[in-house]
Amino acid sequence: MDEITYGIGKLRGHEKNRESLRKLFEEKASSGSYLFSGMPAIGKFKTALWFAQLVNCPSFDAPCGLCVSCRKIDKGVHPDVKIIKKLEDKTVITIDQVRDQVVNEANFKPLEGRFRVFIIDDAHLLNDQSQNSLLKVMEEPGAQVIIILVTSRPSDLLDTIRSRCRAIRFFPLSDKDMEYILRDLPDVDYEKLGIVTSISAGSPGKAIKQAQDEVFWKIRHDLFTVLEKLPDGQLGDILKYSESVSIQRADVERLEAFFEMLLSWFRDIEFIQAGLPEDTLLNRDFKESLEKVYFCYSAEDITVLQSLILEIRKLTFENNLNLKMGIQRLLIKIKQTGSVQIG
Ligand SMILES: [Zn+2]
Repeated sequence: MDEITYGIGKLRGHEKNRESLRKLFEEKASSGSYLFSGMPAIGKFKTALWFAQLVNCPSFDAPCGLCVSCRKIDKGVHPDVKIIKKLEDKTVITIDQVRDQVVNEANFKPLEGRFRVFIIDDAHLLNDQSQNSLLKVMEEPGAQVIIILVTSRPSDLLDTIRSRCRAIRFFPLSDKDMEYILRDLPDVDYEKLGIVTSISAGSPGKAIKQAQDEVFWKIRHDLFTVLEKLPDGQLGDILKYSESVSIQRADVERLEAFFEMLLSWFRDIEFIQAGLPEDTLLNRDFKESLEKVYFCYSAEDITVLQSLILEIRKLTFENNLNLKMGIQRLLIKIKQTGSVQIG
């Protein structure tokens, strides 16, 4: 049984990775170091916990998710499963943490389970010193020791560390898996979740965060309101709007979401033009607005506008293009394109 409830949802997707891990376990080859890499919040850390449960669960049907061992791991209180994260008042995972929580601990036999598992979350935050300290354990791991480095930035780690690890790559989840994970969440607006699921690029963690982020919904509301008015609006409105957008450059997630929203708008216009049913729209709650403007853009227009959105996104992220300028350039082009059709 592979479905286990951890605090915020269920483990879903990444079946291939779990199969490989299970195979190693069955072949009694699971000790050693692992590098779990992939974009943020797609289930790497949860899979690490699942693996810790698998190797320590006494059940025939491991990981059962129900036994004392599984539940302790789920709660983060199992004495053999250590989770190492950056401390709040620090910018890196310090050498002291690595020494106290890994190096000194790895020599001991498991207290309750079969393996001592060390999960280092956001392992790219280990500085060189911490990594070198860790390396000593990784070079001579005990037969009952598993070290899992979880990271979205594997290239930030030292080559010597990476070469010691079995690399397990994680890919974004499918929409179906995302829906499954998000379906039963408490205290989240289901309609909002449906909307963010499609624009959160296979990352359930991101979708949950966005669904609960009021700023995200305001950005989206303001953007779609201006897009609806654009074809027959005034240039002054664009200037006013672009001045009002206050996403900071460091706010990468919201910045990415902003460009995803723009792309989703034109993707929906294409779907309406193709006569596809309402439930295929990403922005169903803005259906009326989309219907007011969908005929303003030809298929070619949309292709041009989509490439421009991607280009401005790239310039914003890679070349530090001023966001307000980028938005102005984009919206002016969208307005000009849309007005031609109306005119
Ligand atoms: Zn169990």
